[in-house]
Order: sequence, then C-alpha cells, then structure tokens
Amino acid sequence: MTVTRLQIVRRGLSNRCPNCGGKTLFKEGTLFQVNPACPVCGMKIERDEGSFLGAMSLNYGITIIGFLVPVLLLYMGGLLPGVAAAIIAGVGAFGFPLLFYRSSRSWWLMNYYFFLPQHLPANLGAVRKGEDQNI
Ligand SMILES: [Zn+2]
Repeated sequence: MTVTRLQIVRRGLSNRCPNCGGKTLFKEGTLFQVNPACPVCGMKIERDEGSFLGAMSLNYGITIIGFLVPVLLLYMGGLLPGVAAAIIAGVGAFGFPLLFYRSSRSWWLMNYYFFLPQHLPANLGAVRKGEDQNI
C-alpha cells in the first residue's frame, strides 16, 4: 500500500488517519483526546511533544490570521463598531482555537507527512523496495 501526498492532504483536511484514512485520530466519544495510536492500522499518532506544540502553534497562527486580523480590518474599515469588535475578538480568541482544535491536530500531522511521506508506516515497504518515486 502506498499513500500519496494527495491522499495525505485529503485525509488531513478531513481529520482522518494519514496512514489508513480511518476516522481514528480522536478517541471515540471525546472531542479533544487524541488516540496515542490508530486503532485500525496501529500508526503512532502521539509521536512526541512536538506534535502537540506544533499543532497549537498552527492553531494560534490560524486564529490570528484567519479570525482576529479580519475582525481588526472590519473595525478599521468602519464596518464594526469598537465595542462589537472587542467583544467578538475576545470571545473568538478563546472560542476559535477550541473549534479549530481537532483540525489543527490533523493538519499538523498532514503537514509532517506531506513533507515526509516515506515516514508513514504504509509507505515504509514502498521505500524499502525503491517504489517511492510516485509518492
Ligand atoms: Zn490508521
């Protein structure tokens, strides 16, 4: 089995395991608990401390660029009054990262395996056989 970069991006954007495509990144019935390993294929999801920190950096970056800056621009453009902009920014500064948490964990994994697809367990056999030219 060989997983392509396109498959990695599709799986990352839909919060799926980058290795097998299962909806297994998070423990069933929980919103924020990441499985230490995929229950379907066994790939280690919680790889190290960097996986959490990287996902949080991505989360805060998207929150600032994708939410807070647009609110600021709406305020500066006169489309939002100051009090409304302050309230929206204050609530969004905490709410947006919560809503984006699951995607940020998945997107961070997607980012890692997009650049290093040969590290996916499903691609290890292809690399050993020299079949990784199409990855
Ligand atoms: Zn899996």
